[in-house]
Amino acid sequence: MDMTPAVSLNSVSKHFGDFVALEEVSFEIADNEFFTLLGPSGCGKTTLLRMIAGFDSTTSGAISLYGEEIGSLPPHKRPINTVFQNYALFPHMTVSENIGFALQLLGWKRSEIADRVQNMIEMVRLEEFAARTPSQLSGGQQQRVALARAMAPRPKVLLLDEPLSALDLKLRQEMRSELKTLQRETGITFTFVTHDQEEALSMSDRIAVMSAGKVQQIGTPREIYEAPSNRFVADFIGETNLLEATAVSVEGSTLTCALPGVGDWTALSVGAVTAGQKGTLSIRPEHLRLTRTKPKASSLAGKVLDTIYIGTDSQVTIELEQGPTVRVRQQNSQSGKDPLPVGTAVHVAVERDAARFLTD
Ligand code: ATP
Repeated sequence: MDMTPAVSLNSVSKHFGDFVALEEVSFEIADNEFFTLLGPSGCGKTTLLRMIAGFDSTTSGAISLYGEEIGSLPPHKRPINTVFQNYALFPHMTVSENIGFALQLLGWKRSEIADRVQNMIEMVRLEEFAARTPSQLSGGQQQRVALARAMAPRPKVLLLDEPLSALDLKLRQEMRSELKTLQRETGITFTFVTHDQEEALSMSDRIAVMSAGKVQQIGTPREIYEAPSNRFVADFIGETNLLEATAVSVEGSTLTCALPGVGDWTALSVGAVTAGQKGTLSIRPEHLRLTRTKPKASSLAGKVLDTIYIGTDSQVTIELEQGPTVRVRQQNSQSGKDPLPVGTAVHVAVERDAARFLTD
């Protein structure tokens, strides 16, 4: 494995007239990594991908590939390939021809092309379909052809722009594990773009969460989910309870904060926090516990407002006494208890270290 970053972005900005699509974006993607750019529509993911591929120029900043600046290299000279959302397969060519075409352009020998095409077809399990044209294939099969075609010339970096969005849910889930396996087997560095957080969490080694042209946080799926660094990330990834709070006392990374009209709560601080500072408490619904009797640990009293059954778990909405409402996730089991009737008086406790005090 190469220790030089595969892709390195240094203060990259992109302006379209007065509009700032990307602002001073800096990060590195490691060799062999499955790296995902995740963010809502319009946050600049595709723009960033296009600049790495060379389809668009940067307004300022530098992009390097394995330590070499590539700003002046045209797309076809970069050891990078892209899989697009709509696959962009050649409609009149067979699967084999689609996969081999770029290799012909690159001047590969006939026998080398035949071997490589066969190899790629086996890798994406399309042996039976080699002689078909794209219109004779299902969406998932077309997606595999697009992947095989993009990987055939052995690019060092593969860019994937929402490649699963045209597939139905079941197929998308299947393709997730296939993509992860392909990445591991080929050792190609994957840079994957999506707005689907489940997709990002399930496949990536690391994720960059983006919003409004800026990177909000970079981390492993677990870090991003369990330790969001600001309100945007906490809210965008998964579900969370966001409660306005004020820091009362701070001790190292732990603090006590006051929830107006509710009481005091212990939380982990994210970044430097001083007493008196206002912020937001983020608590994942699955880290809250409900009991009918008051537990020993500190808890908040409330009553059940609503219970929604979602198969594997149930979402219970609790109205705290004089305070906001919070959502609690409870795992359902075969020996499951009956849902708590609306109006039941309950106590809500938070698991240790699960509440995070965010200041921006
Ligand atoms: P999506 O998930 O919807 O594809 P995205 O995060 O990939 O969104 P981009 O396509 O990178 O978003 O676009 C970022 C912003 O830049 C958007 O507000 C878009 O309207 C704007 N933009 C992109 N290309 C151009 C262009 N050629 N001229 C002007 N504005 C552009």
